[in-house]
Amino acid sequence: MSYTQKVLDELKARYPEQPEFIQAATEILGTIQPALDAHPEYEEAALLERLVEPERIVMFRVPWVDDQGKVQVNRGYRVEFNSAIGPYKGGLRFNPTVTLGMLKFLGLEQILKNSLTTLPMGGGKGGSDFDPKGKSNNEIMHFCQSFMTELYRHIGPNTDVPAGDLGVGGREVAYMFGQYKRLRNEFTGVLTGKGLSYGGSLARTEATGYGLLYFTEEMMSCMKNDSVKGKTVVVSGSGNVAIYATEKAQALGAKVVALSDSNGYIYDPNGIKLDVVKQIKEVERGRIKEYVNRVEGATYTEGCKGIWTIKCDIALPCATQNEIDGESAEILLKNGVQVVAEGANMPSTPEAIDKFLAAGILFGPAKAANAGGVATSGLEMSQNSERLSWTFEEVDAKLKQIMINIFHNAYDRSKEYDVEGNLVVGANIAGFLKVADAMKWQGVAY
Ligand code: NDP
Repeated sequence: MSYTQKVLDELKARYPEQPEFIQAATEILGTIQPALDAHPEYEEAALLERLVEPERIVMFRVPWVDDQGKVQVNRGYRVEFNSAIGPYKGGLRFNPTVTLGMLKFLGLEQILKNSLTTLPMGGGKGGSDFDPKGKSNNEIMHFCQSFMTELYRHIGPNTDVPAGDLGVGGREVAYMFGQYKRLRNEFTGVLTGKGLSYGGSLARTEATGYGLLYFTEEMMSCMKNDSVKGKTVVVSGSGNVAIYATEKAQALGAKVVALSDSNGYIYDPNGIKLDVVKQIKEVERGRIKEYVNRVEGATYTEGCKGIWTIKCDIALPCATQNEIDGESAEILLKNGVQVVAEGANMPSTPEAIDKFLAAGILFGPAKAANAGGVATSGLEMSQNSERLSWTFEEVDAKLKQIMINIFHNAYDRSKEYDVEGNLVVGANIAGFLKVADAMKWQGVAY
């Protein structure tokens, strides 16, 4: 039995109640055995057994008082997964579906993703089962303050630097930053995704979506001598990643014809009017179906899955995990999709990925393709450390170069390990080797 299979079997037996974590571990460990064959010293050092166990998990209760004066209690978590190459770094997710297993899946992915950016960031993830939907501003503030009243003990600019994720945007980061500052009496870059007036970075808001397109453009250019220009694109979601992926795709000359939210999707054969979407989602915090009331010729369909039946050249899943299953992958392929690049984390099921790879289309896996957000968070940390702010153009240029480098790093590894073009294997091995090397040299930490 291979080393990776042995570790995976042990994990499955130990954490049967954490399916997302097991799925992510299976995906990663299932691809890196060739790198372990080339480095037998890693098995001797039990490197994988250490990699799959978080260095630390903090779990805590988050009590807060709602607008009716009723005391509510949620569960808070921070998974400090790996600090071999830098402080723990990764977002906070506020969503009723949050469980420890989900955060461990995201944290494990984050280790390799952060490694791929070439910036000095370890891996972490956190959040709460708090549901921000339908809460007043006041309730959001009270919740964020209570959450930080425990979390502040465990984080710091050189220890652990959280950011946003689902349900945690600029507003929530701001409330948490304010509370951290108050409790510590210290103004430091302890969170990223901050507002521009208190240490945030220009281009952070756009970074994941823009980065996804820089990656896609480079992948198409290098592997197929093609480009995004003139292509028809379907983007799922209508949040931060989806909106800025759409913006950059349009800027590169593509036609984006669909967007969605967790209730349904819109189809606009004339091309999505992004100013209307921004007004609905960013200003009014409304639902995507409102789009069809404002734009002639657009249609709305209830349910999320149908979005993948729309014919397109490029599919950019930017909503949530496991949103493209095997069946949807087959329909996309039947309709002639040429490129799938993941903006969300783990949006394709393993079955879907197998189908894309078997069909030989270009497939950009999340940990490489959506690394632009955390890369720009790394750039925000650099700016905070030197107490300077770079221009939008400076940050954007650095982001673009990082995404191009990530693609080539993954692509080169795929060639080195005889699976040319398989960026799932290439990205996993490239991300893993850097962390493994750092862990090896640092020895077994007691
Ligand atoms: P947002 O909360 O801004 O937007 C998420 C969007 O996805 C919303 O439109 C939401 O709709 C929709 N959505 C949620 N669940 C489903 C579902 N089951 N089916 C269809 N649509 C759904 O989040 P982000 O845009 O920031 O993040 C999207 C994904 O990208 C996540 O996987 C996140 O982890 C990942 N990511 C984000 C980064 C970032 O910088 N923001 C960086 C790297 C990865 P609704 O409003 O109905 O909930």
